[in-house]
Amino acid sequence: MVTEEDLGAWLAEHQSVVVFTGAGISTESGIPDFRSPGGVWTKYDPRELTFQRYVASADVRARSWKMRREFFAAGAKPNPAHEAVARWERDGRSPGVITQNIDGLHAAAGSRSVARLHGTAAEVMCVGAAPVGGQPVGCGWREDTRWAFDAIDAGTADPMCPSCGGLIKSATVSFGQMMFPEPIELAEQMIEEADAMLVIGSSLSVYPAAGFPEIAAARGMGLGIINAEPTPLDHLADVVVHGRAGEILAGR
Ligand SMILES: [Zn+2]
Repeated sequence: MVTEEDLGAWLAEHQSVVVFTGAGISTESGIPDFRSPGGVWTKYDPRELTFQRYVASADVRARSWKMRREFFAAGAKPNPAHEAVARWERDGRSPGVITQNIDGLHAAAGSRSVARLHGTAAEVMCVGAAPVGGQPVGCGWREDTRWAFDAIDAGTADPMCPSCGGLIKSATVSFGQMMFPEPIELAEQMIEEADAMLVIGSSLSVYPAAGFPEIAAARGMGLGIINAEPTPLDHLADVVVHGRAGEILAGR
């Protein structure tokens, strides 16, 4: 068993640590992984709210807006793990963070370079009138998510793009939806700049998430993993700490 002291030594050994985060970094902020029981996901399963169902059904869109509203009403705040990640970037010890999370907590903690692989729940975007497959075909219109809530409160059950009349959707990557290219490019740039990768709170059990630490290991970069449970890639890491990320990283 690797100790937290080993993690401190490992962090000190590296000049530039790119961070990769999953749902586990936000559980201490009160946001449950949808794979875990409890919270908003007992009522809304994102695996059922696929992109294809969303574009096909006004009912699914209405359910999705309700889910988003409950998500924001919960008022999650960054925890000491998000704060440590932001501090490393500010201090020049990290080029930034690659995240699977849509909760906005890295930005709320002060991180500026954030590659949001699955987009953000803080904004809505036009996905076009009739997207085919999993590819949004919108006009480029984006707005704060509150715009959609305000439109619904004003009596528009199914708000449409004010610019082109297309469907609007949370600027997240739903199940069945293609990933956005921009955050993948940003993630690759940050990996180029770094000599190590620290994974925080990802089970690393699904792709593309698991591909990032594999890239780091293949490039000969240092690899650290902090997660509540063992991951299938623990054997690739120099340092593995099992526990709560906020407690482990507080003050680092
Ligand atoms: Zn539009």
